[in-house]
Amino acid sequence: MTYNELKELDSQYHMKTFGTRLPAVFTGGSGAVLTDSAGKEYIDFLAGIAVNCLGYSDEGFKAALEGQVDTGIVHICNYFYNEPQARLARLLCEKTGFDRVFFGNSGAEANECALKLAKKYAYGKGKDSDKFVALKKSFHGRTLLALSATGQEKFHEPFRPTAYDFTYIDANDMEAAKAAVTADKCGVILEVIQGESGVLPLHGEFVSLLRALCTEADVPLIIDEVQTGMGRTGRLLAQEHYGIKADVVTLAKALGNGIPIGACLASAPFADAFGPGDHGSTFGGNPLACAAGLYVTNKIDDKMLSHVERMGAYFSQQLEALMQKHPDTIIDVRGKGLLLGAELSGKADAHEMQRALLSQGFVIGTAGANTLRFAPPYIIMQKQIDLLIEALDRLFQ
Ligand SMILES: *Cc1c(COP(=O)(O)O)cnc(C)c1O
Repeated sequence: MTYNELKELDSQYHMKTFGTRLPAVFTGGSGAVLTDSAGKEYIDFLAGIAVNCLGYSDEGFKAALEGQVDTGIVHICNYFYNEPQARLARLLCEKTGFDRVFFGNSGAEANECALKLAKKYAYGKGKDSDKFVALKKSFHGRTLLALSATGQEKFHEPFRPTAYDFTYIDANDMEAAKAAVTADKCGVILEVIQGESGVLPLHGEFVSLLRALCTEADVPLIIDEVQTGMGRTGRLLAQEHYGIKADVVTLAKALGNGIPIGACLASAPFADAFGPGDHGSTFGGNPLACAAGLYVTNKIDDKMLSHVERMGAYFSQQLEALMQKHPDTIIDVRGKGLLLGAELSGKADAHEMQRALLSQGFVIGTAGANTLRFAPPYIIMQKQIDLLIEALDRLFQ
């Protein structure tokens, strides 16, 4: 079907959540390159919003999925044990140092699980509270509890009342953190790099302070690594850059390289807060999703991480050079590894820039008010980064 045919069907039958979509219909891909229905090629700097970490047509990934499909079982439900789930649970715990995991199907669900786990831990201690601390400009997903944790009014307005009682503090406000993180809370949730609101990294001392405050109050520090996790920043978890470890961490986007899977990992004593019947999921941790997760998690080894680190450092240097050259257009370059943002001045519009780049064969994202977001597959090459930088340079002339 053509773009116009799809647009017509979508406008008639799909809920209006996504508005008019970008003008390209992708029908194939290989490496970091997508192909549209007319045969035009695009270098992908979005990866399906930080999901397709291995790019397209990864042979081992295909084989892992085919191997599971060939058993005849894609799904079995959690009345039964299944080997891919057990193996992935062990692998993730071994690689991250967390003790237990729960699998869901998305980032929002992973965060739901984390917040329910924290609530149950508080309940188990006899604490009558539904109070949590979250950050302004955060993004934790679209289900009601994840949305409630999201510190952005515009998402709450039509859906009030929101769930639980969240106190939203400004990122990097040390005094607000000290005042908010008290023993009557159930937990603190944050992203160490706020992805959706513009690729905004938190300051190290703020993250360390929250770590200490949570320990003191015996409440879990929940770090949402749905976007930053699974190697996106050059480390398996972005919190490693901060030299701290959460009590609970959530993962999703890159974990399945496109097969829907989310995970909530926790350390003792929080990891044991749920008992039988407290939480569940029909699809969560099904054999196909876990086969995908196993392949991806094994693939993100030190070699892959050092490639992400090197390409990320190069990419960010190139963006900074571009900022020196066009100081009235790019006003800030932020991020870590292959999660980078370039904030634009009022002179340029991020959405227009995104469309202009698309027409020239580059897929990029946007974030926050006016920031270009780059989250390419981990296999991106220096030459491909150079081509994007040249295209941006031309657009900024
Ligand atoms: C994308 C994202 C989510 C939501 O994930 P879904 O899979 O869309 O539910 C939650 N937190 C962060 C930090 C994200 O980037």
